[in-house]
Amino acid sequence: MTLNDSVQTLPLVGPSKAQLLEKLEIRSIKDLLFHIPNKYRDTSSFVKISELKATGEGTIVGNVEKIENIYTRTRKVLTRAKVTDDTGSITIVWFNQPYLVKSIQQGNTYIFEGKLSQKSNNLSSPTYELFNEGLEQTHLGIITPYYPETDGVSSKWLRGRINYLKNKLDTLFEESLPSEILSTYQLLPISEAIYKIHFPNSFEDVSKARERLEFDEMLGVSIEIEENVQKRKENNSKSINSVKSLMQLLDKLPYKLTKDQEEAISNIFTDIKDTKPMYRLLNGDVGSGKTVVAACAMYQAYQNGFSSVLLAPTTILATQHFNTLQNIFSGLNINIKLRISNKKIERNESPMILIGTHAILYDNEVIPNLALVVVDEQHRFGVNQREQLLNQKFNNYSPHYLMMSATPIPQTLTNILFGDMDVSFIREMPSGRIPVKTHFVPFQKRTDCYEWTKEEILKSNRQKQAFVIFPIIEESEVLELKAAKKEFEELKKGILSQLNVGILHGKMKASEKESILNDFKAKKIDVLVSTTVVEVGIDIPDATIMIIEDAQRFGLAQLHQLRGRVGRGKIQSFCFVIAGEKQEESSIERLKYFSSHNSGFDVAEYDLEKRGPGEVYGTKQTGIPDFKVASINNLELLIKTRKTAKEILNSMDLLNIKSLLFN
Ligand code: ADP
Ligand code: MG
Repeated sequence: MTLNDSVQTLPLVGPSKAQLLEKLEIRSIKDLLFHIPNKYRDTSSFVKISELKATGEGTIVGNVEKIENIYTRTRKVLTRAKVTDDTGSITIVWFNQPYLVKSIQQGNTYIFEGKLSQKSNNLSSPTYELFNEGLEQTHLGIITPYYPETDGVSSKWLRGRINYLKNKLDTLFEESLPSEILSTYQLLPISEAIYKIHFPNSFEDVSKARERLEFDEMLGVSIEIEENVQKRKENNSKSINSVKSLMQLLDKLPYKLTKDQEEAISNIFTDIKDTKPMYRLLNGDVGSGKTVVAACAMYQAYQNGFSSVLLAPTTILATQHFNTLQNIFSGLNINIKLRISNKKIERNESPMILIGTHAILYDNEVIPNLALVVVDEQHRFGVNQREQLLNQKFNNYSPHYLMMSATPIPQTLTNILFGDMDVSFIREMPSGRIPVKTHFVPFQKRTDCYEWTKEEILKSNRQKQAFVIFPIIEESEVLELKAAKKEFEELKKGILSQLNVGILHGKMKASEKESILNDFKAKKIDVLVSTTVVEVGIDIPDATIMIIEDAQRFGLAQLHQLRGRVGRGKIQSFCFVIAGEKQEESSIERLKYFSSHNSGFDVAEYDLEKRGPGEVYGTKQTGIPDFKVASINNLELLIKTRKTAKEILNSMDLLNIKSLLFN
């Protein structure tokens, strides 16, 4: 038997069981052994029956004097047993498990673990196992592991199967880590760790076992990070030399840069001077002013005779960036181009600043002397796509890369997700901003919220504008889109009938979207009902009200991003998060937290802590590891494993180690 064998090689595991196990992602022997208990109960200390009667719960060892099925008047089956030890006897009852009279034999001694029923003082539906005096137990009389379960696969069943492998672990597992590393970090050998995670003698065993497994998980991630770092070290880039006339640009701005912006720019300038490419993440809140930082870098490149590219996730956003940059660069005589159609740019051009969507890098177009690529809203890339992008070369040179986040990424996540990049945080918001006032709106108050909005807009002489967002996460959800359109019609004919209401969604053609947005900008539309397509950085300064329906369906980071669509002008803005009709307490708590916190870093960290990375960001595309034991917050461990990863990459048999690691 080997770790890679199918679970079906185990006795009692046939095709139908295998199908059930599939739900737990258990396919091989290795998967089964890496199915880690999610809790333990100590059933190793026995109490006497007299004590159990006094305390109400515990584990006893007793002789089954009698066991029988009793049929009640309501035709239910009750199995009743009388169990005795040297301090007395107790009645045990189970419901609807008539087969127990066959599996529990009269006259034998068993371990029972459970609670007394308060009404009858009987021991009610305890777990049980035949007592093997002096021999090893599988279920009780031990530190009993409990596993993630699914219908038809109980912890008890899993224990039985894993128990079958108990004495084979030494031969199944080959140690992946060199002994020096095991001793430096006082880690258990892998076979011992697996043994102790399933068959611990103490909770100390459990924590030592977990330590080893956590180390392996984090090491797997660290190796990937280090591999990227090392691979990228082989790339060469153009050195973009020191400042020529940045002041020309800065002096024109109608504001002073914040400290964080200045520091980011200074870090970027240091990076791009190097002949090794920059890989830097600009991590900042919505509205923190990332665009101007990127503009400085592109300007610097341009001044030195290099082209740069700014990639936006959508054509709307690309167009908007183009307008913003044209504005920032006005009067500086810069060759700036927007490319969102299929029209090729002319060849042999002089250096340029090119703005477009991701597609422009993938059609083999030669951008003259390209030295810098800025990626806005980098999360639109999956990890694989990101890797592909970062490894692109143009004329054998790698550009410098500046990735910009759409929303703040919590520190712990940047360590894992961008461990192979440098990070500049922009925490400070530009001064003079009026923070958006956010209100949580219970479903019953929904109408009031629209009434208020209508009044606000009318009072302002229809200068103020509002967004209404419906949570269509997947634009392909036909039903949801239908529901949103219906709501739109109702608002338009009902509460908002005095206003012009428009609708925008992802299924529209680009030209349709653009014309709706232009109408909104031109104030031909007062209220824009939209799906999350507006999430991506649309700048409408007079939109001061943001209403989000069914807000609990969004993550806080996304809500925050939506909130960032307002509050861009000089007047007080409002954001209303409306809860759906029936809501759990925890969702409401989340929305209330959101309503009382304005920093995107705060809400992102809160969400990460409350819901975990998988729920908040998904794990598949984002590259957030799907850890079973390790925590992504464990920075101390990450530092250790990064160091180990480096050592391994430099000296050891990497392929072998990778194939053996727990993952
Ligand atoms: P984001 O980080 O979300 O991309 P933007 O770059 O779009 O933010 O900036 C948001 C707004 O803030 C823009 O209108 C921009 O002109 C303005 N801005 C940027 N930096 C400053 C600053 N230091 N002081 C005042 N306003 C600023
Ligand atoms: Mg932006």
